[in-house]
Amino acid sequence: MYADRILKHVESAYPQQVEFRQAVAEILHALTPLLKKEPKYEKNAILERLVEPNRQVFFKIVWADDKGKVQVNRGWRIQFNNALGPYKGGLRFHPSVNASIVKFLGFEQIFKNALTTLNMGGAKGGSDFDPKGKSDAEVMRFCQAYMDELYRHIGALKDVPAGDIGVGAREIGYLFGRYKKLVDSFEGVFTGKNLDWGGSLVRKEATGYGAVYFAQEMLEARKEGLEGKICTVSGSGNVAIYTIEKLWQVGAIPVTISDSGGCVYDKEGINLELLKEIKEVRGGRIEDYAKNKKSAVYTSVKDYKEGTNAVWSVPCFAAFPCATQNELSVLDAKILLQNGCKCVAEGANMPSSPGAMQAFLKAKICYGPSKAANAGGVAVSGLEMAQNASLHPWSFEMVDQKLRTIMRDIFANSSQTAAEFKDPTNLVLGANIAGFRRVAQAMIDQGY
Ligand code: GLU
Repeated sequence: MYADRILKHVESAYPQQVEFRQAVAEILHALTPLLKKEPKYEKNAILERLVEPNRQVFFKIVWADDKGKVQVNRGWRIQFNNALGPYKGGLRFHPSVNASIVKFLGFEQIFKNALTTLNMGGAKGGSDFDPKGKSDAEVMRFCQAYMDELYRHIGALKDVPAGDIGVGAREIGYLFGRYKKLVDSFEGVFTGKNLDWGGSLVRKEATGYGAVYFAQEMLEARKEGLEGKICTVSGSGNVAIYTIEKLWQVGAIPVTISDSGGCVYDKEGINLELLKEIKEVRGGRIEDYAKNKKSAVYTSVKDYKEGTNAVWSVPCFAAFPCATQNELSVLDAKILLQNGCKCVAEGANMPSSPGAMQAFLKAKICYGPSKAANAGGVAVSGLEMAQNASLHPWSFEMVDQKLRTIMRDIFANSSQTAAEFKDPTNLVLGANIAGFRRVAQAMIDQGY
């Protein structure tokens, strides 16, 4: 069978790229019924072409720390596919970043961006640099050195990076500033910029808000809602913070946050102001949250039960994994389901392990896979590109309304596609097929 053959090829060509193989396996499995029905994809070698990136850049970044010591990091930009528009996708700065992680993220981005219905190809980049604990001046020197290599590969109509883990407004500012200097042009080459110099309202909030909008869509289709419901959220970065903000706005009660050190359960609900103060102003850790809030209980990762993440042991109606890939194990999924969880909407990229994903699908709960549920971030990036191109900023209400409509349409498209293939609750199937069809048709239209 076509999908099996391609999967075998990827497994033998990239045995070490575990995350990339996981992302490819998920998609190929979901595409099986479509590939059986439509021979045009095999005839045009679409899968063979999709699993190899159009271009990969792997480079060295040399910079000096505050003590004058020379430091060396590794950097990547993987331009996967540009059938639908300029390459588009974030940069991740985290010590765990490697070729497999950048590649899985870039591969996912192709289909996620396609689902938004906007004109964006798929790409991803990053570095094993850790901004944590570095001074602003160190981060600036690193970003400048990173851009000294990257600038020749990007451009407003060529490849438009943005943030991801470890890359926020500060890093984007330094990267954008260096790009501008090197090419002598003020252009929309980044998204997630600050508002005064070309950023879009709602971009900061978009991934988290979008994940909640997506959960609302899934629930509404079953005549349910989030109002008054206990929700668990993992992570404490940008995606988690704005998931929590939107959950409060729609009347839900978000009760958890986490970071690499541990997790916080606050039975009164997470105090958003305190969380923002600790994370956005002080750049602190969530342990500080627990120290400042009586009702909060902190559990260190050292005390997690083996193979589990304590966030998912808190009984909830809906769960929002907003930390990182494979943060939710099959054991976590079983615990969530046993405790009556009815909805999982993924704010992070590929947070559920393959076993956890299968458990959610089998239980037929509302399960929104990341490439659908977290597409709100890149969707508003697409809107930022439109605003930059027209030199005309839009209001908060207008962008938020468009985001809401895009998330509604992604849900409708994914669930209609799932129904077409006789598996109506399976949004993994629906989202993958819907995203793939759009990209594959563009590739066929444009020839090889
Ligand atoms: N890093 C985000 C994602 O995973 C956003 C990418 C972007 O805005 O280009 O979708």
